Amino acid sequence: MKLTIVGTGYVGLVTGTCFAEMGNTVTCVDIDKDKIENLKNGVIPIYEPGLESMVARNVANKTLHFHTKLNECLHDCDMVFIAVGTPMGEDGSADLQYVLQVAKEIGQYMTSPLIVVDKSTVPVGTADKVKSTIDRELAKRGEAIEFHVVSNPEFLKEGDAISDFMKPDRVVVGTEDKKTAETMRRLYAPFFRSSMDRMLVMDVRSAEMTKYVANAMLATKISFMNEVANICELVGADVNKVRIGIGSDSRIGYSFIYPGSGYGGSCFPKDVKALKKTAEQNGYEAQLLNAVEDVNDRQKFVIADKVINHFGKDLSGRTFAIWGLSFKPGTDDMREAPSIYIIKKLTELGAKIQAYDPKAIHEAKSFYLKDVEGLSYADSKYEALKGADALLLLTEWKEFRSPDFGEIKSSLKESVIFDGRNQFDADRLDNLGFNYYQIGKKLAFKA
Ligand code: NAD
Repeated sequence: MKLTIVGTGYVGLVTGTCFAEMGNTVTCVDIDKDKIENLKNGVIPIYEPGLESMVARNVANKTLHFHTKLNECLHDCDMVFIAVGTPMGEDGSADLQYVLQVAKEIGQYMTSPLIVVDKSTVPVGTADKVKSTIDRELAKRGEAIEFHVVSNPEFLKEGDAISDFMKPDRVVVGTEDKKTAETMRRLYAPFFRSSMDRMLVMDVRSAEMTKYVANAMLATKISFMNEVANICELVGADVNKVRIGIGSDSRIGYSFIYPGSGYGGSCFPKDVKALKKTAEQNGYEAQLLNAVEDVNDRQKFVIADKVINHFGKDLSGRTFAIWGLSFKPGTDDMREAPSIYIIKKLTELGAKIQAYDPKAIHEAKSFYLKDVEGLSYADSKYEALKGADALLLLTEWKEFRSPDFGEIKSSLKESVIFDGRNQFDADRLDNLGFNYYQIGKKLAFKA
């Protein structure tokens, strides 16, 4: 099929590349001219394992193309995917200006029948807005070209995006039109070789809602476990053991019950807020989602509070090594990362920070932690430790899982580790003479 994907961010670029990999002819469009120029030269704007080589292969095969002008990509096109950002608006709702701008352009320039697919995460009712925007533009032109708007939310995880897209748990398609559903089935069939059972066709509103509910459920699990962790710490229980104790119950399971420094990233924070807003706009107060957010807002500061409890409120003259800046491992994405909040809090109290991350330093330097006084960056995890008072582990990158504790000890002024991801064996670190702070476990303090 001939596909146009609008927006070449994490979702658009992965979607376009994976469809091209299956033999479709894909054009990825973005208004960011530098991004498109770079992509044409093989420079990938994001870090996503496996993406660079797949893009290169499909560009070489002429199945993947890049463009800046949507109006030049709509002729003979079977489907247009809208994969632009839907950031949080000022009132917490999803800002639909980019989605509706694309819809407007589609209405202005489409020349033949089209399936328009909402791939961006959008609130219930957005497909109707996209449809009426296109209708309005067609009416202005005096044209009556057939089109259908489909909801096809994306569930990929940054860091695992290629494998999630190529082998999806499920594909949700919202459409009430039989022929459109069949076309979507044909498009996704190569991703489900054994059975199409995981292709879930439903009405548009249920599909739009499914995406928000999936993210809200995952965020709820995280906040629930973080709340449990904080209670464990107060009563002298070890959340690591409690986690195994509950996860072994098949009704509960192990996924998404790791305690930590709170959820971040481009999706959970804004999607929980947007679902709350949708409920509010319909006269319902989503109390559980309010609590999920409150717990998360507090959780981002738990590690900073532990540092303050240990070293005191005046941190001038103190230096801390930080391992990990991105909101999770496997990505350079720093949107809403707990590291931002922790670093700002500690530097406000006078501390100096030496930070290291395998992929996110460029993002931190150029935007999220730009001009933070007292923050410097190291080229390696061990370099970050030099002369620091303590180590804070904030993102569980693989290279932090089995470090040389002898080197950590000899580089730090004090043998103190604050672990925001509960990565290490507390008994082992205890035996090695560290004061090892975790989330949800009381420290047996060593003087
Ligand atoms: P992103 O910010 O990385 O990329 C969006 C891109 O759209 C940018 O490159 C921007 O220049 C481009 N754009 C904006 N307006 C445009 C226009 N009028 N024409 C052409 N291009 C335009 O966003 P993302 O992370 O890829 O997310 C896109 C959507 O997918 C969001 O709704 C998000 O919630 C959802 N989503 C994201 C993820 C994720 O892990 N990032 C996962 C699932 C769903």
